[in-house]
Amino acid sequence: MIIQLETTIQQKELEIIQQTLDELNITYYPVKTQLGNYRICTPQQEFDIRKIGHLSGIRDVHRVSGKHKMVSHRWKVDRSIIQVDEELVIGGDEFTFMAGPCSIESEEQIENTIACLKENNVKIMRGGVFKPRTSPYSFMGLGMEGLKMFYKACSENGIRIITEVMEPNQIEAMHDYVDIFQVGARNSQNFNLLEALGNVDKPILLKRGISGTIDELLFSAEYVFKNGNEKLILCERGIRTFETAYRNTLDLNAVSILKEKSHLPVIVDPSHGIGIRKHVYAMSLAGAAVGADGLIIEIHKTPSKAATDAQQTIGFEDFAKLVSKVRQLKTVIA
Ligand code: PEP
Ligand code: MN
Repeated sequence: MIIQLETTIQQKELEIIQQTLDELNITYYPVKTQLGNYRICTPQQEFDIRKIGHLSGIRDVHRVSGKHKMVSHRWKVDRSIIQVDEELVIGGDEFTFMAGPCSIESEEQIENTIACLKENNVKIMRGGVFKPRTSPYSFMGLGMEGLKMFYKACSENGIRIITEVMEPNQIEAMHDYVDIFQVGARNSQNFNLLEALGNVDKPILLKRGISGTIDELLFSAEYVFKNGNEKLILCERGIRTFETAYRNTLDLNAVSILKEKSHLPVIVDPSHGIGIRKHVYAMSLAGAAVGADGLIIEIHKTPSKAATDAQQTIGFEDFAKLVSKVRQLKTVIA
């Protein structure tokens, strides 16, 4: 059960509500986000919500019977629209492209990518500066210096930044240079990181773990929400299966299921999802067709020379074709 409190609630009203819950022997968790003030209750047995629904200071009481609470579609009829800034939202009627290199490499690379994004009317650039690498001998990204360079070029061009944060202690330093924090697949259940991102007033794109179930992804999102940040975007980026013909299995079932179970926007990452350049186009169309709210795609001026994930990175011309075909598709299925 979710109790949604009035934003104007008085201390006295709050005390009465909490006292009533205590008397009814109901355990509750306070959740205060940028947008609301809630009490999550987990009553042990069937409970008549009229016993508290009339109390002053309560805006609404929602019965949410499933395991997930705040991220569940059961209490929020309208889908969440994530406000990136005053002019840019994700979700709702918007279809969002985020594109850029796997890793930020140089000023020149940032500039030529921005030019490509602007030509295609794409507003969000991706690019890792802290890279989670399987081998400790691989390129780890340009770190904060790279992020500052990334920020300078993007802010001069009205392009927003999404980049991966790997540890709680990076958040503060990165904060002012980032528009959307990405939580990578390997950190999908890093609960310390998720809790720390609950205190951030910026959207979080949360990737599904490499072997993560849909339930686990929703619980990870619940961690961020419960700790105060409801600006969440889910991302299907492929899971590990028995199949070896491609890097990951892009699970498009998940998009449909996540949109049923949760009110949060869902983005598809076809680049990591299949991991093979020539198939990114087809999987992008498939992601858009299944109902994703957007795509995150790895692009590079010379894809084969990309410092990381070259095998799945597409060139600028291919990206332009992809964007135009996906937009065309969206008008047909709208
Ligand atoms: C990335 O976006 O480059 C990345 C490392 O993604 P993932 O966490 O999905 O592997
Ligand atoms: Mn990558």
